[in-house]
Amino acid sequence: MAIYHLPRGTQDFLFERTRRLEYIESVLRDLAESYGYAEIRTPIFEHTEVFLRSVGESSDIVNKEMYTFTSRGERSLTLRPEGTAGVIRAFVEQKVYAQQDYPYKAFYVGPVFRYERPQAGRYRQLHQFGIESIGTRTPFIDAEIILMACHMLNELGVHHYRVKINSIGDELSLNNYRKALQEYFAPMISTLCEDCHRRHEQNALRILDCKIDGDKEIVKNAPKIADFLSKESQQYFDQTLQVLNDYQVPYEVDDRLVRGLDYYTDVVFEIEAEDHEGNSFGAICGGGRYDRLVKEFDGPELPAAGFAFGIERLLLLLEKDEAFNSIEREIETYVMPLESTVFQYAFDVMMHLRLQGIQSDMDYGMRSIKAQFKTVDRKRAQFAILIGTAEMEQQQVTVKSNATKEQKTIQVDELVPYLAEQFAACEEETEHEHTCDCGHGDHDCCHGEGDCHHHQH
Ligand code: AMP
Repeated sequence: MAIYHLPRGTQDFLFERTRRLEYIESVLRDLAESYGYAEIRTPIFEHTEVFLRSVGESSDIVNKEMYTFTSRGERSLTLRPEGTAGVIRAFVEQKVYAQQDYPYKAFYVGPVFRYERPQAGRYRQLHQFGIESIGTRTPFIDAEIILMACHMLNELGVHHYRVKINSIGDELSLNNYRKALQEYFAPMISTLCEDCHRRHEQNALRILDCKIDGDKEIVKNAPKIADFLSKESQQYFDQTLQVLNDYQVPYEVDDRLVRGLDYYTDVVFEIEAEDHEGNSFGAICGGGRYDRLVKEFDGPELPAAGFAFGIERLLLLLEKDEAFNSIEREIETYVMPLESTVFQYAFDVMMHLRLQGIQSDMDYGMRSIKAQFKTVDRKRAQFAILIGTAEMEQQQVTVKSNATKEQKTIQVDELVPYLAEQFAACEEETEHEHTCDCGHGDHDCCHGEGDCHHHQH
């Protein structure tokens, strides 16, 4: 067995997959910005209390999943298990609330850490892309963040998904409901798992999403939160659903959805997705409202709502749907020195191209011409720049198109304008080929693949 290997539940993303992650993040980032969100970066570790207070002492995350360590200064620190707590801590600590441009809209992207049992689509280091809308309580915000999450999925080309939504009510509704659950489970507590014994003591709500007992009949027959909602919470929920109806969001009310973090109140949701063959990918996004959290961090009484996408799950889903063909990496030119005597000249040509803004790489190893052409294919170079003694002596280069295999010998001074012309012609051709007739009119909408997502929803 290899001595040096990955810790369980973590993964290396090699080049192609990193590029895919970056692509996913850039789509989410651009869309968040177009909805008025700005990026925030907070530390990936915080004082442990930050998570105890927000994620909550009864949650699985706090009880079993945190990576907590003692610093050299004897402080208890924790690798963040989610993004919201750090954002709210920063919002209060940096007094961002003083600007009063509510809602304050932040997005973040980065790794989070959970000591969970690794399995397909579940990791111990994962990446989340999340948004927080802080300072405003209106059903339009709750609906808007769900609309934004759906918009993001459409933009990525994910079309088979469903929003599961529920209201867990305000604090009073929740307290009454917790009490009712505690009474309901008390006589049958011995039939539930060890963790549920603790949950029963701390917060009986958590029994509902237990991974072991969650599907048992006694859990399914437990009292429903809907019967405990205050009038205001019920109205708020109905109004949120009304906006979702207006925008034809594919949702279903799931009265057992409570979400595993303690800070939620009122509207909570998860988005579940399937690949094009109908295989479930589970939850790819989760979120909801958390009106008490800012206050719990000693900030003013400000309501808030947000969500987080799991990036790895999006990656797996999109890979299954072969959605990345259009972003496969290409390089514009690859310089091929054919003899060792021309190496310096070839290197200068490559640097000249780079400094003029043209992507370029070269063969540094003086390999055979056949091996060099193989690299041209592997790197998906658009043009090979061949250089032999004759070219060097005449201050020339031979440019070979990898697409048409046509080649032409030109003066090195003409290389940049010649390539610029070729790229422009190539772009025009692609646009012509892929302009779809959906009336959307842009090449981007087909991602160069001719399958326009504007047609599909
Ligand atoms: P949560 O913060 O638990 O609501 O999670 C938000 C999203 O992060 C989920 O919908 C998943 O897509 C993703 N996620 C949560 N836990 C994991 C994990 N252990 N591995 C991979 N993705 C995860």
